[in-house]
Order: sequence, then structure tokens, then C-alpha cells
Amino acid sequence: MEIAVVGTGYVGLVTGVSLSEIGHHVVCIDLNKDKVEKMRKGISPIYEPGLSELMIKNINAQRLSFTSDHRKGLQQADVIYIAVGTPENADGSAELSFVIEAAENIVACIERDVIVVTKSTVPVGTNDMIKDIIQSQLTSDLKVEVVSNPEFLKEGSAIHDSFHGDRIVIGADSEYAFNVIEKINQPFNVPIFKTDIKSAEMIKYASNAFLATKISFINEISNICELLGANIENVSTGMGLDQRIGSQFLKAGIGYGGSCFPKDTKALIQIAGNVAYEFELLKGVVNVNKKQQGLIIRKLTDCIPDISGKKIAVLGLSFKPNTDDLRESASILVTEELIKQGAEVVAYDPIAMDNAKTVLNSSIQYADSIEEAIENSDAALILTDWDEIKNVDLTVFNKMKNPLVIDGRNCFLVKDMETHGIEYRSIGRPAAV
Ligand code: NAD
Repeated sequence: MEIAVVGTGYVGLVTGVSLSEIGHHVVCIDLNKDKVEKMRKGISPIYEPGLSELMIKNINAQRLSFTSDHRKGLQQADVIYIAVGTPENADGSAELSFVIEAAENIVACIERDVIVVTKSTVPVGTNDMIKDIIQSQLTSDLKVEVVSNPEFLKEGSAIHDSFHGDRIVIGADSEYAFNVIEKINQPFNVPIFKTDIKSAEMIKYASNAFLATKISFINEISNICELLGANIENVSTGMGLDQRIGSQFLKAGIGYGGSCFPKDTKALIQIAGNVAYEFELLKGVVNVNKKQQGLIIRKLTDCIPDISGKKIAVLGLSFKPNTDDLRESASILVTEELIKQGAEVVAYDPIAMDNAKTVLNSSIQYADSIEEAIENSDAALILTDWDEIKNVDLTVFNKMKNPLVIDGRNCFLVKDMETHGIEYRSIGRPAAV
């Protein structure tokens, strides 16, 4: 089986590398020539633990290659994965132009019967559309099947997730397609769930929407805890012990971000709206998240009403730890608001600062360490719970002008901050003053 992957972002690159690691021959195709040049040398364009090592190993074993030439990449392929982006349109719906272009690339280049496997997160009915595009433009009598195979990796642990995922979902409408895709995935040794194409497409959106709902739910509870004097950490632990609830995704914070939950929740609202169904619960989830993302600035201005000219340290920029991805990061929104209100921002992130420089206002200063960022600052905001930040020696905060820490990720125990004489505000817990 010759495999091609169209699009080498977080999903496409991890898919291509993981498939080559279990023994398949994989060619990864991307429009971005600079990226392809880098990847050919074994340099990963994204930060993902373990990815570069596996890239180099499989390039050297001649199982993995990269090209920006669609014809070269697609003509010998038996199975083609589509892993291009599906960003958000202005109305919240999923933008499908990259998927359509990928389908057109495929039909223009294939020379064998193929199975087209959609990894991208796409609205219900998109795989039918892909099949229609390909079949309507096909000038030969090649046979093309489509399969929905949504991706569930988590950035920051994507390689691990490929080999230890909870499930692989395969949506197909022929035994032949099920068998081929099941066989390709068997070496991962991850449970496989087979279903129809539309249900597979829906499983992805429903899963992300459910996880986002858990986050917004616990954030609402945390806000009520604060008003009543309860402690959200104790509440989450007590709730999570119930196996019907589970302990994951019950961590209060400053809202969900990243390249998936924000766009996928809004897309699902649109998908429902297209069939005249108002998804009221999910609308609430999205609104709660927006409100929660403003919480850090409100907590800061409760302590320092006018932040203009104040030196504010921002610790953590990526939307979560172990990734350099800044897409929809709450930290970016908070940083932009600090600048808007005239604060002097000094930021530190272990990995994402280079990306931040391309996204954020150039007036932001970047520090080489936590210590450098907080030195002489009026307040420190903790926005991403990197291990380096969680494990920092608390005496470091004595380097601030006045030790005031606003923690959007509940990284420290309130009593430890009290012991160190640090004024501390966190999420859903009593303050230390
Ligand atoms: P991305 O934006 O990081 O990467 C997309 C890549 O596709 C880019 O490198 C782009 O140059 C390339 N591309 C676009 N059109 C192309 C074409 N016609 N031919 C060749 N290359 C092309 O996207 P991503 O984060 O990897 O996400 C891809 C899809 O997977 C999205 O639908 C997303 O919702 C879904 N998904 C993402 C994650 C995640 O954590 N990032 C997890 C699960 C699912």
C-alpha cells in the first residue's frame, strides 16, 4: 500500500510520521515549499514531543518522504489522507475551501483506484461532497471510495496519542474500504470503531463539543464557588470520583482555546442551524467561554484599577502546555487587552515565543526566563500551566515590585503562596492576601 497525506500541519505530519513508523510507505504533500524543505531535512515545523526523532528515523528508513508536487505525491497512491485545515468562517461555519482544493488536487493527479480518507474535521455531508467533486471531475474510469477517519490527537501528546489513543473511528460505506483502512491501522493496536460516514463525521464534532461543555460547566461552577467561599479544586476532585462524570476536563481555568474547540463548537452550532435546529446548550458553552477569557483582566484590575504604565509579566503564551500553537490561545487575547489598556508587557513561554513574535504587537518584550520576566513587575499573570511554571521556586516572586500573582491555571496551593507572602488570586478558590 502506498499512502499519501495531503496537508502536513499538526494532524497531517503526525499521521504521516505515525503511519511510516508502523511500516507503511508514506509521502506527505504540502503547498508550503519552505515547510517541505525543512521536513525533508528531518526538521519538524511544529513543536511536538517525540515528532522530530520519528521523522528522522523513518526518512532514513526510506518509508517517509515529503513533496510540494501533488502529482509526484499522489499518482502512485492507493490511499490518500486529507489533513488540511478547516478554519472558521466569519459566521462560525467551517471553511471548506482547503478541503475542496485538496479533492481537486487528488482528482487531477491520481493514476490508480484510490481510497480517500478524510482526517480533517468536516461537517456532516462533507465526505459525500468530496466524492461528488472527485467523481464529477474524473475523466478516467478509476474507482474512488471515501472514508471518514476523524482525528482525536491532542497537541502536546500527539505522537503518544497515535499509539495509545482511546479509539480509531472509521466511517465507510463498503466492506472493501473498511477492510483496507482497518488493516492499515491494525499495528497501532488501538480499538477500532466502524460506523457509517455521517456518524463518523458527527462523532468528531460531538466529542469536541462535549469536552468544551465540561470545561465551560466547571468554569461556571468555579465562579459560583468563589462567590460562596467554596474551593473548586475540592469540588472537582469530589465530582471526578464519580465514574459517570470522570475526573478529566474538570479543571477550572480561563477558558478553552486552541485550533479545535473554539471553531468546532461554533461549526456544530451552524451544522445544527442548517437543519433548523437551535443548539441552545452549545451556544451557552461558547458564551461562557468568552466570559471566562475576560476573567484574568477583571481579577487584575480588581487589584490594580489602572494598569496603564504598569509592568505586567505574562507567563505562558501557548493555548496549553507542550505545544507552540497559539491559535485561539486565551493568553494571546489577554496580552492584547493588556497592551490596549497601556500596560508594559514582558512575556515568557518555554517554547512559543518565536511564534508569538509573528502574532503579537511588537511593543511586547520577551524574557529568557520566568525570573527575568517578573523582575520588578507590578503583577504576574499565569496563563499556561507549563511544568516549568508550575514547578518554579516560589521565592522567585520576591523579585517583583509587589508580589501579586494572578493565576489562570491554579498552578499553586493558596497556603503556599500565603506562606511566601504573595498576594494571590486564582480561579474558584479563596484569595491569599
Ligand atoms: P494546519 O493548519 O496546522 O495544517 C494544514 C496544512 O495543510 C498546512 O500546512 C497547509 O499548508 C496545508 N495545505 C492546505 N491546503 C493544501 C493542499 N491543497 N495541498 C497540500 N497541502 C495543503 O491544520 P491542523 O491543525 O493540522 O488541522 C488539520 C485538520 O485536522 C483540521 O480540520 C482540524 O480541525 C483537524 N484536527 C486538528 C487537531 C489539532 O490538534 N490540530 C486535532 C484533531 C483534528
